[in-house]
Amino acid sequence: MKGPGTGLTRKIVLAMLTGAGLGLLLNWLSPIHLVNELVVDGLFAVVGQMFIRSLTMMVVPLVFVSLVAGTCSLKDLTQLGRIGLRTVALYFLTTAVAITLALSLALLLRPGRGFDLPTEAQFTPAEAFPLSEVLVNIVPANPVQSMAEGNMLQVIVFAVFLGLAISLVGEPAQRVEQGFRDLNRVLMQMVLILVRVAPYGVFCLMARVFATQGFEALLPLLQYFLLVLFVLALHMFLVYPFLLRVFTGLSGRRFFANIQAAPLFAFSTASSNATIPITLETVENKLGVHNSIASFTIPLGATINMDGTAILQGCATVFISQAYNLPIGVAGYGLVVLTATLASIGTAGVPGMATIMLAMVLQQAGLPVEGIGLILGVDRLLDMCRTAVNITGDAVVTCILAQREGALNEAVFYGSTDG
Ligand code: ASP
Repeated sequence: MKGPGTGLTRKIVLAMLTGAGLGLLLNWLSPIHLVNELVVDGLFAVVGQMFIRSLTMMVVPLVFVSLVAGTCSLKDLTQLGRIGLRTVALYFLTTAVAITLALSLALLLRPGRGFDLPTEAQFTPAEAFPLSEVLVNIVPANPVQSMAEGNMLQVIVFAVFLGLAISLVGEPAQRVEQGFRDLNRVLMQMVLILVRVAPYGVFCLMARVFATQGFEALLPLLQYFLLVLFVLALHMFLVYPFLLRVFTGLSGRRFFANIQAAPLFAFSTASSNATIPITLETVENKLGVHNSIASFTIPLGATINMDGTAILQGCATVFISQAYNLPIGVAGYGLVVLTATLASIGTAGVPGMATIMLAMVLQQAGLPVEGIGLILGVDRLLDMCRTAVNITGDAVVTCILAQREGALNEAVFYGSTDG
């Protein structure tokens, strides 16, 4: 199946840049009420939302069908268990590296110095993380409801179970297996059609973000903003290529050349979930990962692996502790590593979720939750950047696993970037 080519990627980048430019212009013209109402909150909002919804529309059917088809072709329970364990272990590892990097650099560069905010905050005692509830909720009581609610973990569990059963039945279920494979191709074709209209959607999303972004919020938070960007960039362009090189010997440069469409989508939608169809398509068709691995690791990653989100939470925690002059000590930061890792796992792949989960991290660290208000003004821009990192992390882990399982086609990986 032919994926989006570099020509299309170029169009998307162009759409992003012109959208952002027009948005900035409109931001400057914002006192003109009619422009706001008709263009920014009218045309751009409508087309942008229609675009995100059309991507989101594909998520549940694609994840379900693709994962059933992928699990069918594993044929081996031990392989499934091994892939599952390794995926979760690698997702934990990358997130732990991300949060540690964020905390170390934030402590070193001290983005919150000089704020000296008073706090009346009553320190709420740490609440227990409802781990039992999280575990119970992994199993769907009603798979149809899980799909209707877009509960990705439950959809994954049901799809893997169904795929396993199909593979255990063997010969008599071959038509069912083939049916899922064929349907998977059809759904991928739908994704490719959406990708072709993407530049229009991306243009509207970018124009709206930049038209409505309050840039005056940026100045006082510039140190914090730049710090988060810096750590995100380090993680993306140093840690990921390093991990790829160490675990697989694959070229980081080639990886980025092939994957570029997916982070661009993530950046413009600020949603890992809505980007799942694109990530899946890119990882399979451009990086050469077999569907049996990608169909499992990509939706799981979009749900539980959020390195960019962990980085944001780490930087924000240090920033808030410094802004309020409330040092939390080494043990406090140890706790932050743990809770931010868990919080990033619990963060849904939709815009702005990191700041909601940040409340949990702050509470555990005994920091004032109202500190979140300080950083909200610049969060949309950071959300776009961290979402790009989030889905790139999923793709890196997917490549590592696939290569070790012999499920990565290096001819595709090192082939034309046009896929
Ligand atoms: N927007 C992020 C995502 O979808 C989640 C977050 O960090 O707020 O991955």
